[in-house]
This record gives sequence, C-alpha cells and structure tokens, in this order.
Amino acid sequence: MKKLVSVLVVATVILSGCNTENPETMNPFLTEYTTPFGVPPFDQIENEHFIPAFEEGMKLQQAEIDAIVGNRDAATFENTIEALDKSGELLSKVNGVFFRLRSAETNDELDSIARVIMPELTAHNSSISLNPGLFEKVKTIYAESESLDLSSEQAMVLKKTYRGFVRGGANLVGEAKERIKEIDKKLSMLTMQFGDNLLKETNSYQLVIKNEDDLAGLPESVCSAASDAAGAAGLEGKWVFTLQKPSWIPFLQYSEKRELREEIYRAMFMRSNNGNEYDNNKLITEILELRIERANLLGYETHAAFVLEERMSKKSENVYDLLMQIWEPALDKAKEEAAMMQQMIDRDGGDFKLASWDWWYYAEKIRKEKYSLNEEEVRSYFSLETVKAGLFDVVNKLYGLTFEPRKDLPVYHEEVMPYEVKESDGTHLGIIYMDFHPRPGKRGGAWSTSIRRAHVQDGKKVTPVHLIVMNFTRPTGDKPALLSFDETLTFFHEFGHALHSMLTKCEYLTVSGTAVATDFVELPSQIMENWCAHPDVLKTYAKHYQTSEVIPDELIAKLEAASKFNQGFATVEYTAASILDMDFHTLTDASGINANAFEEASMKRIGLIDEIIPRYKSNYFQHIFAGGYSAGYYSYMWSEVLDKDAFNAFLETSLFDQATATAFRENILEKGGSLDEMEMYVNFRGAEPTIEPLLKGRGLN
Ligand SMILES: [Zn+2]
Repeated sequence: MKKLVSVLVVATVILSGCNTENPETMNPFLTEYTTPFGVPPFDQIENEHFIPAFEEGMKLQQAEIDAIVGNRDAATFENTIEALDKSGELLSKVNGVFFRLRSAETNDELDSIARVIMPELTAHNSSISLNPGLFEKVKTIYAESESLDLSSEQAMVLKKTYRGFVRGGANLVGEAKERIKEIDKKLSMLTMQFGDNLLKETNSYQLVIKNEDDLAGLPESVCSAASDAAGAAGLEGKWVFTLQKPSWIPFLQYSEKRELREEIYRAMFMRSNNGNEYDNNKLITEILELRIERANLLGYETHAAFVLEERMSKKSENVYDLLMQIWEPALDKAKEEAAMMQQMIDRDGGDFKLASWDWWYYAEKIRKEKYSLNEEEVRSYFSLETVKAGLFDVVNKLYGLTFEPRKDLPVYHEEVMPYEVKESDGTHLGIIYMDFHPRPGKRGGAWSTSIRRAHVQDGKKVTPVHLIVMNFTRPTGDKPALLSFDETLTFFHEFGHALHSMLTKCEYLTVSGTAVATDFVELPSQIMENWCAHPDVLKTYAKHYQTSEVIPDELIAKLEAASKFNQGFATVEYTAASILDMDFHTLTDASGINANAFEEASMKRIGLIDEIIPRYKSNYFQHIFAGGYSAGYYSYMWSEVLDKDAFNAFLETSLFDQATATAFRENILEKGGSLDEMEMYVNFRGAEPTIEPLLKGRGLN
C-alpha cells in the first residue's frame, strides 16, 4: 500500500492554561526552533506540549483571520488571499509533528490527545471556511481576478481559495451552514475511529506456532523473523506471525500448512468485521450517509461528483471508463493464472479447489517453477543500503541532487534517518527523514508526508522537511535488511513524493509541492519505479550483500519475466477495490446499507472470481474510510497511465536524458499545483497521455 498523506489544513479554538509555570520557554513549539534548518526538536517535545501548542496555534490563527476580516482597506490579493495562505504558522508547526507521530509512532497518550484535539481543530477549520466576512472579501477579489495583475501561481491560489470556500459551504445560509459544520465534525471523529479500530484489530492478532512441524516450507529468514517476534512478545522458543504485511505475506507464500494459511488470511481480511467493539461496519454506513448528505447540501448528487470535480478525471464516468478498459483484460489474465494454479494443485494430487488463501502459495511455486525465481535469492541483491545508494545515484544522474546523512538532527525514534538534500552547486534544498521498519505504534503500509512544506514567509524561503515511512523487512540475526523487489519499488516510489516536495518552486502553501489533484500526485512517485526496475539501472545498484557481485543478467531476465507474472491478480485485486470505492461513493442513498452485502453485490456485478478478494475489503479499506482517497482509490491507476507515458519520453531518448529530466523537473516537479494538471503534463510531454504504455507494462495487451 502506498499512500500520500497531505498536511492537514488547519483550524482552531480558545487558549486554555498551560501546565508549566513558564510555558513560553518550556514548550518547544512556542519558541523558534534553534535546531539546524529549523527541524522539529523531537528530543525536546513531550506529549504534554501538544494541547497547549495546538490551542495557542488556533488562537494565533484566529487573530490573523480577524485582522484580515477587520481590515477597512479594500480587499486585495495581498491583504486577503496571501495573508490567509500564510496564516496559522504555529498551528502548521504542531500539526507537522503531531500527525506524523500519530501515524508513525503513536501510543495511547497520543491517541487520547487526538480525541481531544480533533473536534477542536475541525471546529477551528470550519470557523475559517465558513466565516462570512472572510468569504465576502475572497468573493470580491475572485470577481475581479481578470483585472488583477497576478502571476499564474497567484491566479491559481486565488481560484483554489475561492473554490475551497464554496466547496466548504460558504455559499450556504442558516441551518444548512450549521449542518455542514456538524457533519465535518462527525466525519472527522468517525474516520479517525475507523483507523483506530483497524490498528487495534491488526495488533491484537498473533498466529503463535509452538510446533516446529508447522513451519514446513518457510524459509529460514522468515522463521528467524518469526522467532524474533516471539521473543519480543515474551514467547521465547515459539514463532509469531502477525497481520503486518512483511509477516503474513511470506507466511502465505511459503507455508505448506493450508489450514494455517487459511487461519491467518481470514484473520487479515476479517479485521474490524468481527462484530466486536472494533467492528467498522456501522461506521461505514454512517460515513457514507454523512458524505452523501454533505454533497447534497452543496448541490452535488453524490460524494463522487463532489470529489471528482477537483480531480484530473473530473467525472465518475471517466473513472469507470478507465477502470473497465483495464478490468476486462486483467480478469481474463487472472482466470488464466488461476487455471495454471489449479493444474498444479491437481498435478500434485491436492484434492481441493484453489481458494484465496492459496493464491500467494501457488503464485510463489509457479514463479519458482516457470521463472525459477526464488524470492530469497532476489532479496540478497537488495540490501537496504545497496538500494538506498542506487536510489540516490539515480536521482543524482537525473537532477544533480546529493544526499548527506545528518546524524546530528533530532529524531522521534532512533531508527529514523535524516538526510540533507542539496543541489549540484551545494545549495541546501531540504531535509528528508526515512523511517524503514515496522513497529507496534506504526500504521501498516508505506507513506510519504510533509513535516514542513516549502513556501515563502515574510519574504524568506522556507525549505521543506519531509518524512517517508515504510514497513520493510527488518535485519535479522547477522543479516542486514534484505528487501523484496516490491519493497525496493516502494522505496523508490515514496522517494518520488519526497522529490516533488523538495523541488517545488511554489511560494504559496495552497499549491506548494504535493498539493495537486490526487489522481496526479502519484505521477512523480510512480515514475521513479520505472528506473528502479530498468535492467540498465539494476546493474548499477543491485549487488549481493555478501559478495558485492552485480545482479546477473539471467536473474534480471527472470525478474522481468516474473514482473509480468501474476499481473492478472495484482491488477484485478487493485481494480476491484477501486470499483468498490466508486460504487460506494456514487450512491445517492446509503441509509441502512450493509457494507458486507453491498461489497458482495458490487463484486458479483463485475464478475470478480472467488479465488481473489479486493485488495482492500470494506471493513479495512482505510484509504477511503480513514484517509483522503474516497472516490479516489483509482488514482494510482490514473497516475500509472501518466507515469508509463511519461517514462516513454526517457525511453525514446535515453534513461538519464538531461533535456527530458529538466523538462520533467521544470514542468511537473517544480510546479506543484500552480497550473491545471493536464496543462502541466502537456507542457512536459507535448501531448496528452495514452493508455497503451500501461497495458504493455502490465503485460495485458
Ligand atoms: Zn504514492
């Protein structure tokens, strides 16, 4: 799972007393950071600092808003739009730390703080987005926009600000306006509850193996990780598997014990669907109902119509159109793959029909047999250090950037590694923190997020501070962390988001860096995966962790062939989840809906086969019920159309063609959301993208 978490746009309330005698000097948020590059002083931040800092931040922003509204001078871009864009500096500072920790290193105390502060933040946000005096000014400036002498970035900031107000309900009056506030507050609580329930269910399950025979088929490295996990859980001498992907996926791939595969897979896909206090079914219905009500109040028929208006895709018809073009060939391919697996089961004398918990196991067997590709062998060429060096080298060849470890910067966990990013001439660009391995307080998956976004404040450039978080296989025993090829791709992917954030030249937060449509935001990240997997690039970085031998051509050829294998499955499970998301969010009425039944009907309609489940089933579909991807999970595929087409520009010239790299940097990476997404793309490529490179890349045409 790859996802981008954007900085929460903020808002506010009243200052309450701080606990310390002299909070101004005691609370690190309330003074200017004295760290290098002004990064957060993680080593000085205590949980008790958050609430006072949030409250002071909301108070200060409210005062800024009051000043904008109370200004007797005629409203101008500078005294209104710019002043608003640059307001709430302290609040952004606290958000930048608190919400990163909530995802990457949370604990019960942070969870309770979130429960206190989230409703206040939502109310604060609403008080800005529904402030009638502020909206009047914005509206006046927007009406005059043609006659104002604005740069293209400023014009976009004005347009997005105006539309943001309208979409937040600023044009509504009376009861409807109050109701929007209530809905937003409720939704923020419900979606947070959804994520918390899922985390609880994910962490509460363990498959404990006591009998060594039950490890049959599992490679030594998998057993050793399970034995470490058992040790950490106080179960020495046993083996523990969990619902973290680096644990359950290898178990499914290798375990010969079919009944144990079923057990752990069921536990995975039944998370928050067990009828207990962590069940998400009721929350789904409530979230859907509120989203429809909100869309209706704003004049849209469905939540999807409301969301997609701001996306590159514009309409749900365009999304379904893309997904169905991919669905048909992918489903055909998946059926072929299932038949191949059934043949293998029959041949080996297995008297059963292939089930979803068998898929990984037989895929791995076929991969070995047909492609003689052994994942353990592959991993030995992708140690974390090797991959990191390779990634830095690719980025250096493309854009001339360099990366320097900065062990002197404070971190929130000893495993987190900060790097300073510099231009080829040594100019400081920003800081990227990397956090690689799973921990109990960390959400599953991989993501990329800003701690501080680039912009100009009081005439001075503020440089970006970015965080990428992964859940990669840990080092075990005397072995370094050896990544699967998929984890390697993920690393390049998340790093692409970080580059988008580092290279932006935007001056306004409204459009800076990754503040682009979510169906465009994966272009800078996914395009990086193309270099990661290219044979010529692999030979520069994939080296054996013991012998330093370069990955052999034969293994590269196998990797390439294998990358097309199981693409029916991968495309089907992803597209099924995307369609499920669209089906939920194109509903015009969700009252009394049963998520399980709805999902079943939806999957039946598109003909999903029993051997595959959607990549995310409703009850743990965090992207759409707890993240920012509702009516947007399709975005990865939309962006893949873009990234495959964009990478073709390099294939048509050369892998590190400087003119193409510069065009990509200047037209896409530096521009943030300051231009229409299709316009940026056409400026780079000279034409709109086509779908063929994607189908070819997935071996589906
Ligand atoms: Zn991404």
